[in-house]
Amino acid sequence: MRLARFNTSRLGAVDPASETLVDLSDLIADLPKSGWARAPGDPVIARLPQILDQAPALMETAPRIPLADVTLDAPVATPSKIIGAPVNYHAHIDEAEADAGIHHGGKIAKIDEIGCFLKATSALFGPAATMELPFTDRRVDHEGEVAVVIGRPGKRIRAADALAHVAGYALALDMTVRGTEDRSLRKSFDAAAGLGPWLTTPDEIGDPADIPFELTVNDTVRQSSNTGLLIRSVPQLIEMVSAFYTLLPGDVIMTGTPDGVSPVAAGDLVTVSSPVLGAMDVKIAG
Ligand code: MN
Repeated sequence: MRLARFNTSRLGAVDPASETLVDLSDLIADLPKSGWARAPGDPVIARLPQILDQAPALMETAPRIPLADVTLDAPVATPSKIIGAPVNYHAHIDEAEADAGIHHGGKIAKIDEIGCFLKATSALFGPAATMELPFTDRRVDHEGEVAVVIGRPGKRIRAADALAHVAGYALALDMTVRGTEDRSLRKSFDAAAGLGPWLTTPDEIGDPADIPFELTVNDTVRQSSNTGLLIRSVPQLIEMVSAFYTLLPGDVIMTGTPDGVSPVAAGDLVTVSSPVLGAMDVKIAG
């Protein structure tokens, strides 16, 4: 199933072939819209098993809406954490070492040495958003990535058990200001964390270690890779980070970017796509 958040707080099941979605919002109508008492994590993702169970019956009668008529939002609304995996493709290490504009005189440390980093959850944005560049005089790069969304909570999850904790997969943009500051600052500006176009559940995906994806800027291919080339695989990333903190429903792990990162400018159209996960367009504004 391909689950989309649309028009801010509605839930839909996407049918890419007919370019429509079925409105499943009735399945989450009773969830509180706000309030301090809400538990951390994403309440809709936490309810996913129930939603997937009840959706088929509701889809017989629920309204079908053309995708063109809705505004798609990030398929997770309130993650407790957005986790990033640094330098997780060998080809990106090679290009980073060769380009002072990427490494800024710093040592390119291996993921096994530095682990993962966190991006501010306020940086999250969806396919319909326009990404405002935080600076006009600094290099801001696109990093197209595949993201994993956690479904079942867990701590100290072993790699062998990790995929049972996955709610699904989506495309991600780990937008990055190049410079000497800590990653948590450079990768957390408003709209630095793109996620979309929807959440694709694991049953729709053959092997999560074989997801092809591509990023174009103004229709020119800049990044093209496959999760099979990850240094730390999805199960290994889940094992690594859950050794430190509890993973909660809706937590997002951006698995790392392949080679081909490059600066974006106001007016650019960045598209991340995958035959498995759909396509997400992001407009860059200055
Ligand atoms: Mn990245």
